[in-house]
Formats: sequence, C-alpha cells, structure tokens
Amino acid sequence: MMRRETCGNAKTKTAIDFESVLTCPNCGFAKQETMPSQACQFFYECVQCHTILKPKPGDCCVFCSYGSVECPSRQVQSGCC
Ligand SMILES: [Zn+2]
Repeated sequence: MMRRETCGNAKTKTAIDFESVLTCPNCGFAKQETMPSQACQFFYECVQCHTILKPKPGDCCVFCSYGSVECPSRQVQSGCC
C-alpha cells in the first residue's frame, strides 16, 4: 500500500464511515445501511416502495447519490492530494 505523507494539510482520515442513511427519492423512506468497503453498490431496492435506485450521472454508487455519507472509496480519495 502506498501512503503519501507529503501533503501540507494534515488531513489524516483514519476512520472511514461505513454507515450511511439512504433516502429513497421516490417515497422519502430513509434506512441506515452498511456500505461495502471493497465495491460500489450500483443498485439498491427501497424496502418501502421497492423502487430500484441507481446512481445519478457522475456518481459511482447509490450511496454517493442518495446516502448521507459518500461511499468508502470516495472518502479515501477525498484527501487534498
Ligand atoms: Zn422508496
């Protein structure tokens, strides 16, 4: 694993949030889900209205589009380097 320590803004992120609250854009139902750490989740079925949610254009997974927390892979990349 490569780690860059050269960054001026010491914004070390040690903890990644794996819990995200997904809010259905169709019915507004919110549910806390645990995000997968290795892969992005493209589809999510709302437990209330059974709408299949897909990421918005430019987003890599449903958590980025509809979740309260962006997905783990984005959290890792959201550093300043
Ligand atoms: Zn729904």
